[in-house]
Amino acid sequence: MLPKDCLKPSPNLYVVNTSFPCNPSNQCKVGFFLLLIWESLGFISGKPLSMATPSHKGNPTNSTKRKKNHKNPEANFLYELNSCSKSKDLKAAISLYESAISNKTRLNQHHFNTLLYLCSTISTDPESKSLALTYGFRVFDHMMTLNIHPNEASITAIARLAAAKGDGDYAFEMIKKLGDYRVLPRLRTYEPALFCFCQKLEAEKAYEVEADINKMGLSLEEPQIAALLKLSAETGRGEGVYEYLQKLRRGVRWVSEETGKVLEDWFSREGSEVGFEGATYEVSFVKEAVLRNGGGWHGLGWIGKGKWVVRKGKVEPNGRCCCCGERLGCVDIDDVETEKFAQSVAGLAMEREVKANFREFQEWLEENADYEAIVDGANIGLYQQNFAEGGFSILQLDAVIKEMYGRSGNKWPLIILHNKRVRALLENPSYRKLVEEWMNNGVLYTTPHGSNDDWYWLYAAVKLRCLLVTNDEMRDHIFELLGSSFFLKWKERHQVRYTFPKGILKLQMPPSYSVVIQESEKGSWHVPIVCDGNEESARTWLCITRPGACEDLGKTASNIETCENGNGPCCKSEMSNTGDFEILPSDNRNQASQDFFQMSYAETPSITGKRKERSP
Ligand SMILES: [Zn+2]
Repeated sequence: MLPKDCLKPSPNLYVVNTSFPCNPSNQCKVGFFLLLIWESLGFISGKPLSMATPSHKGNPTNSTKRKKNHKNPEANFLYELNSCSKSKDLKAAISLYESAISNKTRLNQHHFNTLLYLCSTISTDPESKSLALTYGFRVFDHMMTLNIHPNEASITAIARLAAAKGDGDYAFEMIKKLGDYRVLPRLRTYEPALFCFCQKLEAEKAYEVEADINKMGLSLEEPQIAALLKLSAETGRGEGVYEYLQKLRRGVRWVSEETGKVLEDWFSREGSEVGFEGATYEVSFVKEAVLRNGGGWHGLGWIGKGKWVVRKGKVEPNGRCCCCGERLGCVDIDDVETEKFAQSVAGLAMEREVKANFREFQEWLEENADYEAIVDGANIGLYQQNFAEGGFSILQLDAVIKEMYGRSGNKWPLIILHNKRVRALLENPSYRKLVEEWMNNGVLYTTPHGSNDDWYWLYAAVKLRCLLVTNDEMRDHIFELLGSSFFLKWKERHQVRYTFPKGILKLQMPPSYSVVIQESEKGSWHVPIVCDGNEESARTWLCITRPGACEDLGKTASNIETCENGNGPCCKSEMSNTGDFEILPSDNRNQASQDFFQMSYAETPSITGKRKERSP
């Protein structure tokens, strides 16, 4: 049996061994060979040496012992350190470290990083904090003395230690030093400095860290945005709160309970209504901004004056807030994004399709732009059919068309179908009449020979900003070329899926409102809170309004209320709409845009000035 702590080599063997540096992750043949000699000389068969060992419980298995003992002292030290790190045993790690120094074990970046990481983890524990800090900085100094370059992990750990000591400046300084080693920081590298400044209400310094994060091309996530928002709130920077609320809206779909609390605190606190002048705009001006942005926000700044009313409640399936009665918007990509998206679809289609054919379709669409829905004919006709026999169910397609026709107040959808399919249908006497009816109504576009109809229906739906009936999830490699930034958002808002349970058509319409942070044209805010499960109806929202901004809020209240039991203007009897089956009126259709899938911080916020519009 080999002793567990046979780390301590004889000085002679140590010298020989270190002249053959091994990668600790690989079994080093030379090391293995030396260990065999070592063992045969009886160096590791005696009684256990007195060196401190990590206090892991239980006996290691024979295999782990073998593995461990076949490594060189450096690898063994790292192995033992990792065990301490796993068991969060700082004292054992320190003993190992000190023994390694006295044994002149050659220390490398891995060793230092493991020690630093452990110290930084332990530094949050009040009992061991002092020891962790002392050793953490000592280890780091040692590392620098040996001229071992720190990497991102080393700097992150030392920054965490500095922050634990309350020294955000040092934490930030360390990040700036990373450049000397040509190492890029990550978001986590910045967190200690940022959170430290936020906690100490050192606003300018925190904003400076944020600017550096942006400069590095990194994106803030919810915890960082929430911390900056809280900081702005606590230092009375109302405009700053507004900017961070917008960033939160762009960055996340719903917020954690903690972030929700930060928002509640801000809107409930004295000063949230007087820290700045609420702007007054023409209603139509705000409405226009909301429309241009795709719905769900205007970005013009705080609107209105006076105390806020913060309430918690549910949102009805039709999007009506149970607290204030306001109707939440359906958020889509904005005007500029839509145009860009249509252009990129057309661009890719032109590369792959016969140019003249696709251009002809574009021109035709310009002339016939009045459709409210596009139907992917092949997808529906072939749904659950026997492909081998070339089955195509015109009855399924007809059912979808009739349903869409009925729901949109007798407006035909545009059917896209390949010409070979249309020809085959026309040849069948029992289908002929139906297809001719579509043709006579001008609602069938037949894609030419050799074309891929996917480009046609997608382009039409994007260009006309209308619904698209298809179960095609558009995950094809071709669609991947379009990128996901617009696509996911667009799909959520425009795709209508279908099933035929027991042969009966069931449509799954896009949701009637978007579960995202929303800023209304009246200046109120609705913030969804994270919830377990898939039941959207169970989700709690923060409803933040100002008296007078919404008709339902006649009486003034400044406290946080809960409207979950229907105390608000929620009308249970109105909750008839399932959301699943609603087609929005056409003037509502184009409300679009929210970048919850891809954060864009290209626009650096001005803390004092009025926010600029995103779209030109
Ligand atoms: Zn509300």
